[in-house]
Amino acid sequence: MTATPLPSGGARRAAYAEIARYAGDKAAVPVDLADNTNRWGMPPAAARVVRELGAEALTRYPDAYGGPLKRALGTYLDVPPESIVTGCGSDDVLDCAFRAFAEPGDRVAIAEPTFVMASTFARTNGLAPIAVPLTASYDVDAGAMLAAKPRIAYVCAPNNPTGTVASRAALERVTSDRGVVVLIDEAYAEFAGDSALDLARRDHVLVVRTMSKAFGLAGLRVGYAVGAPALVAEIEKARGPYKVNALAQAAAIAALDEDLAWVLQYVQRAIESRDRLTGALRERGLTVLDSAANFVFVAVAGAPRVAAAMRERGVAVRPFAGLPRISPELDASGGAGLRISAGPWPMMQQVLDALDAALAGTRA
Ligand code: PMP
Repeated sequence: MTATPLPSGGARRAAYAEIARYAGDKAAVPVDLADNTNRWGMPPAAARVVRELGAEALTRYPDAYGGPLKRALGTYLDVPPESIVTGCGSDDVLDCAFRAFAEPGDRVAIAEPTFVMASTFARTNGLAPIAVPLTASYDVDAGAMLAAKPRIAYVCAPNNPTGTVASRAALERVTSDRGVVVLIDEAYAEFAGDSALDLARRDHVLVVRTMSKAFGLAGLRVGYAVGAPALVAEIEKARGPYKVNALAQAAAIAALDEDLAWVLQYVQRAIESRDRLTGALRERGLTVLDSAANFVFVAVAGAPRVAAAMRERGVAVRPFAGLPRISPELDASGGAGLRISAGPWPMMQQVLDALDAALAGTRA
């Protein structure tokens, strides 16, 4: 069969032209602290399901909208299952929410710097992202968000990549306009010990969560959001059935039913490691932002070069460059920095050694 050539130029949607594919598939390294996943592994009951589920269960479609998973999540969060929508990672939930609540051309206010996929999903859905800088103390500038007259507002708390928190006052204010659907991305909420979940009782607010971080299931792709049942129904239309596969649903339910103590203990360890790493970095004279997540952000000029030198030493961290210079720290680093996931202390020692060597090398 001969392939039909694509018509030149016209084959691409104009809104796609400048969107880059997410650069996430770098070669494996011995110590990978670049993606904020659980470096202590998968919770035991979930791991048992992965080993034992068997082929038979996978010959059939899974539950279309993840009913049993919603019930397990509902128990975990103490919210009704009808107020939960699941997805193939929280990426999927965000993508579908943008599609569900805005018409092409509508504005999406995004509190920046933040998770890059927020603006990417807005654009792939034909929406117009408006970057609204965080304040100099990394809080959400709620007034500026609403002044942008968006259809949707996206706020990440704790924020990726800074690790910083949004104040309750700012979250209250940004959710005060019922004409704006607000997505509060709480991918790292378990590490913060604080949540805006109660705001999801408002009929235009969604709190988006994931099982990729605290629950150690990133490879299975399980995300969800909590909001009014009417919002959930709209997202499910945009999402379609069967988005969380059968193995992922079974493992996620096992983790929620049986592994909460394990997860809690891991969260505690990640926090201890994060705080110890923060101290060790500050002792070296480096600028580290206060983090409420399972990673730290080190404001350092030339971060991509430093990260490349660390990678040569077998340690992957996530470099950033060109971030908006919203704060004294980001201004001093020229908008650059390294995001380092918290892991067991031996890994943290390796990251410190690699960073010391990289900084010595790049300064030389
Ligand atoms: N939101 C934030 C803030 C994230 O950092 C991530 C993952 N890096 C996601 C959403 C997506 O997570 P997932 O699709 O694995 O649930």
